Amino acid sequence: MSAEPPLRLLLVEDEPTQLLLMQRLLRRAGYAVETASNGEEALEKISSGRIQMIVTDWDMPGMDGVTLCRRVREAQPQLPGYLYVLLLTGHSSTESLVTGLEAGADDYIRKPPNEAELLARLKAGQRVVRLEQSLREAKDKIQQLSITDPLVGTYNRRYLNDQLIHEVERARRYARPLAAVMADLDFFKKINDQHGHQIGDDVLRGFVDLAKLSIRQSSDWIARYGGEEFVVVLPETDVPGAARTAEKIRSCCATTPFATAAGGLVVTASFGVAALEAGGSIASAAESLLRQADGALYRSKHEGRNRVTIAGGPKPDRHS
Ligand code: GH3
Ligand code: MG
Ligand code: MG
Ligand code: MG
Repeated sequence: MSAEPPLRLLLVEDEPTQLLLMQRLLRRAGYAVETASNGEEALEKISSGRIQMIVTDWDMPGMDGVTLCRRVREAQPQLPGYLYVLLLTGHSSTESLVTGLEAGADDYIRKPPNEAELLARLKAGQRVVRLEQSLREAKDKIQQLSITDPLVGTYNRRYLNDQLIHEVERARRYARPLAAVMADLDFFKKINDQHGHQIGDDVLRGFVDLAKLSIRQSSDWIARYGGEEFVVVLPETDVPGAARTAEKIRSCCATTPFATAAGGLVVTASFGVAALEAGGSIASAAESLLRQADGALYRSKHEGRNRVTIAGGPKPDRHS
């Protein structure tokens, strides 16, 4: 076998001697073998999600191999990866084989199995399992990339648009607060103009690192809204709580120079805070939350930058 970890195989056989013989053979062939002596026990082990291949006997007391195949296929959507099933059968008629394959077996081998043939068939099955695994991993990676900003590593605007709807839904369903903070770096164009785009990029990454330190990692999340503009979404948070988080990020930003290739640079940021309002559709509430935060951010800019403004609230605190 390659450097890949051994495949986790479940051997299901009610006859103890046969079980022992096959277990030894499969272990020698490099499989990580677990065993079960009937269908019920097998299903229990499969539900853990760690099994990748099954070699199962057909005739067993209680749940037989064909029923096990059916149950495995029913359970397949809940399992992390494709479960490959090889059926061992003493039933050699064509009808029986069709029954086995239609029940969900990927392949079959007649009992008693020829060792070389069994291993060769399992090797073919292994290719299916490995291929499915690599496709799944590639799909997960693409999924992750499609919601991540490539420069700063936060969620992107697409994720914000989709996920904010879910946050609004959840907040409404459980009558919980939800807040958003919109942040925009001050005079950021100057950083690019004076030091170049690369340094500007360093500052953007630095801002995200700093913001992450001020939020609850378990529930709050950050998305890049545009060039130097970010949204922090704060579930379970009311306006005073969100304003405190914004203020923490603001003061940290204003007092901690960002480490860049051009040395430490102090860059300030302006913030707008808004909370979810009652009424309206889910989509319009999500849109309004962002619009209100953006409006408050605009006031922070207008009134001198480096400050936090609450939507619909009193005049912002002066900091600069
Ligand atoms: P204000 O205080 O009013 O926000 O001024 P500002 O200069 O920050 O705002 P403005 O909208 O005029 O400029 C934003 C700048 O952000 C312009 C653009 O070149 C820069 N920018 C946008 N995306 C990126 C990026 O990915 N990397 C870098 N380095 N700069 C970016
Ligand atoms: Mg049997
Ligand atoms: Mg700006
Ligand atoms: Mg901007």
